[in-house]
Amino acid sequence: MSKRVVAVGGVHIGAGNPVTIQSMCSVPFSRFDELAAQALRLQEEGCDILRVSVPDRASADRFAELKSILKIPLVADIHYDAELAISSIRAGANKIRINPGNMPESDIRRIAQEAKSRGVPIRVGVNGGSLEKDLLKKYGSPCAQALAESADRNVKRLEECGFEDIVVSIKTSNVPIMVSAYRLFESKYNPKGYPLHLGVTEAGTLRTGMIKSAAGIGALLLDGIGDTIRVSLAADPAEEVAVAKSLLRALGLREGGLEVISCPTCGRTTVNSIELADRIEKEFADVQTPIRIAVMGCPVNGIGEAAESDFGVTGANGRYVLFKKGKIIKDISPDKIFDVIRAEIDNVIHNRKTKSE
Ligand code: SF4
Repeated sequence: MSKRVVAVGGVHIGAGNPVTIQSMCSVPFSRFDELAAQALRLQEEGCDILRVSVPDRASADRFAELKSILKIPLVADIHYDAELAISSIRAGANKIRINPGNMPESDIRRIAQEAKSRGVPIRVGVNGGSLEKDLLKKYGSPCAQALAESADRNVKRLEECGFEDIVVSIKTSNVPIMVSAYRLFESKYNPKGYPLHLGVTEAGTLRTGMIKSAAGIGALLLDGIGDTIRVSLAADPAEEVAVAKSLLRALGLREGGLEVISCPTCGRTTVNSIELADRIEKEFADVQTPIRIAVMGCPVNGIGEAAESDFGVTGANGRYVLFKKGKIIKDISPDKIFDVIRAEIDNVIHNRKTKSE
């Protein structure tokens, strides 16, 4: 983890603060009502920091309006245009993301001055698709060394302007290169301990993107590298937040919410436990209390394998049983199974609440 803390609005990144989840709106400012609705939905889903593209003057002019309806910090994503960066900072952006590699020195200096005077951090966002030409020529491809060197170079450009309120990201769609680039940057080029924003860019569709992000972001977080993440998906951004939450939970970096443990089923399964597990996960996605439910395909191994859960269900001969701590508690007919699960979840929530009072 980084040594420094960067404050993005009221959210702190780095130096042991909880790893935060970021996402990005996919609707342009020209469809403002739709954009606002999406931003509010992402906030509701648990996005900690939200980013929005500011590609033109009309977008910058409505930035403050969008920010005013949100409780979470709003980040302006800027390419090429210093004026848009400066306008967004003045409109209340809690952070801006730029790729200093595609801006002249004088523009970087002006952005850094404005950001510093208002206490707004800057993310240096290096991307494999827009690497500087000289680095591409030197290395022949956007390899890990080239990406880490680009990040170092662009961090130094901000430091030369007296600006150190920096978060760094080094993204590419190639997972092994992305992981190597972050590791290299962290070990060789980050003596000041700037916080790192992790992500696999252009990761792909829901399934592919989820796997690539889990592999790349997960490998780094398990190494203790990374302070904030974005799971980038060609899907509804709400999926990005849901996947990021699941990833942090799987890595033991976030508590809370429902965890459904389920077996893959096999020839011993006589109930539709896959559909049940899926339904429970969707129906109770908003539960905040940490609850682990085992949904197993048969009692042969299921009850023992799921002994560590708050409770579990499994089935045999077309009926279900409820079990707790490895023991069968109740026999349930299939038409009542969901009601019983709902009651058990309410029960766990009530007991946790009573205990903490
Ligand atoms: S718990 Fe039962 S149904 Fe599930 S994989 Fe194991 S043996 Fe098969």
